[in-house]
Amino acid sequence: MVQQEYRYIRRKERLAVYPGSFDPVTNGHVDIIERSLKFIDRLIISVTHHPVKKPLFSFRERMEMLQGVFQKRREITVDYFDGLLVDYLEKKGIYLVIRGLRAVSDFDYEFQMVLTNRKLLPQIETIFLTPREEYLYLSSSLVKEIARLNGPVEKFVPEIVVKKLKEKFSLTH
Ligand code: ADP
Repeated sequence: MVQQEYRYIRRKERLAVYPGSFDPVTNGHVDIIERSLKFIDRLIISVTHHPVKKPLFSFRERMEMLQGVFQKRREITVDYFDGLLVDYLEKKGIYLVIRGLRAVSDFDYEFQMVLTNRKLLPQIETIFLTPREEYLYLSSSLVKEIARLNGPVEKFVPEIVVKKLKEKFSLTH
């Protein structure tokens, strides 16, 4: 009886994938991840290529930063994929996707992605979450630009990322 109840709970476990370039992970991403875990039991953060953006950090570096930030969180796994998101989701058997929605500028791209992915794999559902106001205009590109120009990035990214950015751009402050 107890065994059965346990299995029932396990089957009801909610899993989702949060795909993105995370080049690097910012406090905006972290905000979305924390929000998603209010209604999801397990989250797989999955690092991938962006079709247009050329990454500053390698796949490995991006995954290491994420692993460092969430090392104590058993409900979070860091992974990667190198092809279509739908293929990855099918392989994992997970059909729930988390994405962040900031300003209107995100809308067109995200909308296109959802509708295209739905055509390829109809059972996918995407949940969009909006971060707290101070992260609404925060992006990995902006953080990289500030770091490149020797600006302070401490407010925008986790500590591990501050260090990695400094290494990358050989900053001295
Ligand atoms: P991609 O290149 O696939 O868009 P990103 O790492 O830039 O990957 O973003 C991954 C997801 O996180 C996207 O849904 C994006 O809108 C969201 N995101 C990025 N930055 C923020 C932020 N500051 N606040 C909320 N969501 C964000």
